[in-house]
Amino acid sequence: MRSRRTFLRHLGGALAAAPFLSSLAPQLAQVDGFTALRNGVGTFTQRGGTIGWLVTDDGIVVVDTQYPKSAPDCWNGLRERSDSPLAMVINTHHHGDHVGGNGVFAQYTDRFVGHANVPDLMRASAEEGTKEQKTYPTETFQDTWSETVGDETLTLRYRGPAHTGGDAIIAFENANVVHVGDLVFNRAYPFIDVGGGADSKNWISSLETIHDALDDDTIVIHGHGNPEFGVTGGREDLLVMRNFLEALNEYVTQQRQAGTSLQEMKQKEVLEGFEAFNFDWALSLSACIEAVYRERTG
Ligand SMILES: [Zn+2]
Repeated sequence: MRSRRTFLRHLGGALAAAPFLSSLAPQLAQVDGFTALRNGVGTFTQRGGTIGWLVTDDGIVVVDTQYPKSAPDCWNGLRERSDSPLAMVINTHHHGDHVGGNGVFAQYTDRFVGHANVPDLMRASAEEGTKEQKTYPTETFQDTWSETVGDETLTLRYRGPAHTGGDAIIAFENANVVHVGDLVFNRAYPFIDVGGGADSKNWISSLETIHDALDDDTIVIHGHGNPEFGVTGGREDLLVMRNFLEALNEYVTQQRQAGTSLQEMKQKEVLEGFEAFNFDWALSLSACIEAVYRERTG
């Protein structure tokens, strides 16, 4: 398996090279990675996980922070749009391509909100031998958390372990925009962080629960996406991710029953119906197969 550092470098590189398209808002120009979605809510893409943002007269909220190198560009772009103070940063989960830029935003706010498991997961994933100063959540929640900023109400929910053991789903209630973090890699092979508490079966049921709680007008912000499909979309994208995870689980189950070795299992080039997932991307089907195999075998 790739080291974490290698994984993040590849992920960042792949994303930097990908010209993201927004399927829902093609009429809105994407300047320097910024896309406005609705009611002061938008996205910023440069490297790593998709940043969501909210700009109101009373405050700015940032959801995820990418990396130390890209976070200043995000902040500068937000400053061009608003003089409001940074009310808080929310982290969807603990991965470095989502929390790596927290320290940049710490100059402007002391409020960092995340799921209760995020601080320990961040500590556990800290690379040995690095003196890196991480900025951890200062406020955590177990099941739900809600707060009003300006004319928008933010609600955070935890649906149990999925991509990691501490994934928050962030709803901008009035705008009807939901940031699902890395619960959706939009038509791209996902990272299933078994060591970080992932649970692919609960991930499947979480996607169904979230899908059913949204409506056809909801704009969903995905943590990552195939450039052809973009990092925003609708609730139907959750079912594509659900279907992929289900097909992946079925494949591993069938192969184990047939006595196939992990090495043989990993030779699979594509899962039927998910050909779109095969594009130039840092993550692979074989890594997904291995992750689910490890979930089963411990
Ligand atoms: Zn992640």
